[in-house]
Amino acid sequence: MAITKRQAAELAKQAFEYAPAPEATDHVRIQPRYGLFVGGRMQEPHSKKRFPTINPATEQKLAEVAEADAVDVGRAVDAADKAFASWSRMAPSRRSRYLFRISRLIQERARELAVVETMDGGKPIKESRDVDVPLSAAHFFYYAGWADKLEWAFPNRRHRPLGVAGQVIPWNFPLLMLSWKIAPALAAGNTVVLKPAETTPLSALLFAEICQQAELPPGVVNIITGAGKTGSLLVSHPGVKKVAFTGSTEVGKLIQRSLAGTGKRLTLELGGKAANIVFEDAPLDQAVEGIVNGIYFNQGHVCCAGSRLLVQESIAKPLLEKLKQRVSTLRLGDPLDKNTDIGAINSKAQLEKIQGLVDSGVEEGAELFQPECKIPERGYWFPPTIFTNVSQSYRIAREEIFGPVLSVLTFRTPAEAVEKANNTPYGLSAGVWTDKGSRILWMAERMRAGVVWANTFNRFDPTSPFGGYKESGYGREGGVHGLLPYLELS
Ligand code: NAP
Ligand code: MG
Repeated sequence: MAITKRQAAELAKQAFEYAPAPEATDHVRIQPRYGLFVGGRMQEPHSKKRFPTINPATEQKLAEVAEADAVDVGRAVDAADKAFASWSRMAPSRRSRYLFRISRLIQERARELAVVETMDGGKPIKESRDVDVPLSAAHFFYYAGWADKLEWAFPNRRHRPLGVAGQVIPWNFPLLMLSWKIAPALAAGNTVVLKPAETTPLSALLFAEICQQAELPPGVVNIITGAGKTGSLLVSHPGVKKVAFTGSTEVGKLIQRSLAGTGKRLTLELGGKAANIVFEDAPLDQAVEGIVNGIYFNQGHVCCAGSRLLVQESIAKPLLEKLKQRVSTLRLGDPLDKNTDIGAINSKAQLEKIQGLVDSGVEEGAELFQPECKIPERGYWFPPTIFTNVSQSYRIAREEIFGPVLSVLTFRTPAEAVEKANNTPYGLSAGVWTDKGSRILWMAERMRAGVVWANTFNRFDPTSPFGGYKESGYGREGGVHGLLPYLELS
């Protein structure tokens, strides 16, 4: 029996009740206190200071981690410097073997890594399990392949590693950003000191154990925990020859200023405000999935998130209807539940930042849509949000929110879409949804963005370079390009 349109709409509104499907945590051993991983072993911090890392979904303390001071940073850089002499001269095929081993250990310990990543950062387990951890293993696997083929990567050039790399990463993809940083650095023959973000240090500390299991020579990888101050001590240490930073544009600029004239090499992966552009000939249902993935993946804590939806005026109404209906089916809650689509916001500070920007959107006159959803009593949460009636000058259309908040703008012609898409100080990524291949190429040529996805979004592969234009930073990570910042070519 056929159902009427109205019945179909009623049915679509009914949320299916899912039985809880929590991932087990009993196989995970989180220690109550951690030291600093320096010279191949865990060491007590000179600072004697520690700070807690919490689970943002429960506000419970998971562990105490060390806060590295200037002496600790100095020790880590010295250890990396000492290890550089032999690591850089080691037969490349042997370096390659260590990287393969690390990749395999990440795979073996995938479940544990995924659970820790979810507990420490708040992201849904289905994402840490299916995206963060497999991609991390793939990154080491990919660069393991390059380690003994550098002369083919850069034919007729002589290549030399730079020395100690100081690497600072954010909290949105802790293990994956670590892999993006460490794998190419080691493959090229450098040694590293890495500082994870203050709120998500645990997967990096598990990675330290993996380095020990892989019998990586002591000092090749050093992990020091701490807050912004520790990061700043690391990047300004004179023993560091190359700085790789992923984080906010604000801190990126600070670092760039502080490194001016030091001769240190620098790559910056900073913020973004990507346009996801839907043309009237796009397959709408697929586009809706792409929009949802583009902005609600990892609670929107994604530098390349499709946070500005540009939709062609002729299809704005039906597309938004479909989108709102789809967003109403997203399940928010326990990140360890395998059915969860939207997990916890990473920290209280980030939640306040999102709330502040959303308030500004309402004040400036945009129209807010949030589906009904139950917000857990403890922890930090923000419902998936859509703003329509957005003008290009609003803060929600200009500033990176780094939360599950989509701003919708419309356009009439492809030229207008390009102009609006590029009307941002950022330039990290963009998405184009259309049936026409020629239009995809036409748009991609005109977009000032490091990555342009066509009829897909947030798709990553270690072989493909990633990085920004303008205030989104410079330098590329991934692919052969990702080796360049870690080598001197002559
Ligand atoms: P953030 O405040 O810039 O922090 C990034 C890292 O830098 C953290 O480890 C942080 O330590 C450290 N840090 C803070 N101040 C520092 C200083 N003065 N010197 C050296 N290090 C310092 O950024 P966030 O808010 O954590 O991360 C979100 C940002 O990262 C967003 O803007 C996002 O777009 C960007 N991001 C970009 C990419 C990309 O590939 N382009 C990828 C992911 C994220 P604490 O955490 O302890 O403060
Ligand atoms: Mg945490």
